[in-house]
Amino acid sequence: MNPAPAHGPVAPPAPAVRTVLGDIAPADLGVCDAHDHLFLRSPQLPGQELADAGAAAAELAAFRAAGGAAVIQWTPYGMGRGAAELPRLARESGVRIVAATGLHQAVHYAPEVLERIGADPAGLFVAELTEGIGGSGPRAGMIKVAGGFHGLDRHARYTMAAAAEAQRATGAAIGVHLELGTGALDVLDLLCGELAVPPDRVILGHLNRSPDLAVHQAAAGAGAYLAFDGPSRAHHATDWRLPDALAALADAGYGDRILLGGDTTTAGARSVNGGPGMPYLLRRQRARLELALGEELVTQCLTANPARAFAADWAGTASGHRVTG
Ligand SMILES: [Zn+2]
Repeated sequence: MNPAPAHGPVAPPAPAVRTVLGDIAPADLGVCDAHDHLFLRSPQLPGQELADAGAAAAELAAFRAAGGAAVIQWTPYGMGRGAAELPRLARESGVRIVAATGLHQAVHYAPEVLERIGADPAGLFVAELTEGIGGSGPRAGMIKVAGGFHGLDRHARYTMAAAAEAQRATGAAIGVHLELGTGALDVLDLLCGELAVPPDRVILGHLNRSPDLAVHQAAAGAGAYLAFDGPSRAHHATDWRLPDALAALADAGYGDRILLGGDTTTAGARSVNGGPGMPYLLRRQRARLELALGEELVTQCLTANPARAFAADWAGTASGHRVTG
């Protein structure tokens, strides 16, 4: 440790990516699946819960074997995100894991779960980002929220206002589930317009599900990151458009805005159960996208872009907190 000189300016904290095993330099993130799930539970997906830690470990091992180094889990509060398991899974697999705080759409919760959070969701998000999930668990490294189909309901506005407040307090990035890929510009109007979140702290998810190239470029032009994920059985109708959509973004000069992920949301979609799962991104998607974007840009989308997108200065964090257990 070099103590700051007594009279010199105090250097701002270096940006870091907050993993479940502690903060790391962005350059150490490595090849990153920027949107996926190891654990997930929702009344919308009955019988398809991702709840098995053994299966999560096997999926991580398969991802690691395919060359993967980091997974960002976008499972927010109250959806069985497996916070207590994540540090051990990261240690045992050697894959860096970032956990999320935040809230999904109201349909993903029993009403009493939302009532419990009540009037101060921002306080919950900040505590999970700076102190730890459930008080003693790993710290979250991003805030997940959700829009609606071509619009934003009251719950979306409530969660996005809280996310903006927590973003201001911590510097954390906000990842947004776009319903069927729609509503990107409404989300940016709310988050970056009304709520004054810097656009480069916003990551728009699922845009591949609505391959409107003009909207993609407007969102990238506003300064947001765009996370493309899949394939998915539910959204296969648009999967084949992904290479062209990304090529159009790159041609327009927005290659530095692109993030790539798998978004495994059901047990049947896991590679260890015969689905594409996390390894698909590196096993097939990478080579396919290299045909459209070139090897250098695809590598950037898998490494430098997520490193920049998820790094934060972590203001408001109590010093000395490190999760090791
Ligand atoms: Zn997701």
